[in-house]
Formats: sequence, structure tokens, C-alpha cells
Amino acid sequence: MKKILVCPVCKSTDITLDTGGITGKYMCKNCGYIGSVVLELTEGEYRELVEGKKLEREAEKKER
Ligand SMILES: [Zn+2]
Repeated sequence: MKKILVCPVCKSTDITLDTGGITGKYMCKNCGYIGSVVLELTEGEYRELVEGKKLEREAEKKER
């Protein structure tokens, strides 16, 4: 199954290999994060992540 690369900082999927893959690090085009650690999720897992985040935000609103 195809894995989606997700930025651990901003949860963006706009991930590219840094310097053409020479360093083996990933770069997030969205927030500028560079590191060897990115989240590798399946489509279903990614959807859960995004929806979970959304639910968290809604819970925060209700508290205030
Ligand atoms: Zn990012």
C-alpha cells in the first residue's frame, strides 16, 4: 500500500527529499522543517490524523 509522507511539525504532506536525497533528510515545503524523521502513513491513517486534529479543535472551542 502506498505510504504518504507527513510532516511531524505541521502535518503537511508537501514533503520532498532534501538536496536531491543526498543527505537522506526530508524537507517540508510548507513550514521549512528539515529532518530524517517524517511520518509515514497510509491514506486511512492520514485521514484519521487530520480528522482527529479537527475534533481536538472543536473540543477546545467548546471548553471556552
Ligand atoms: Zn511542515
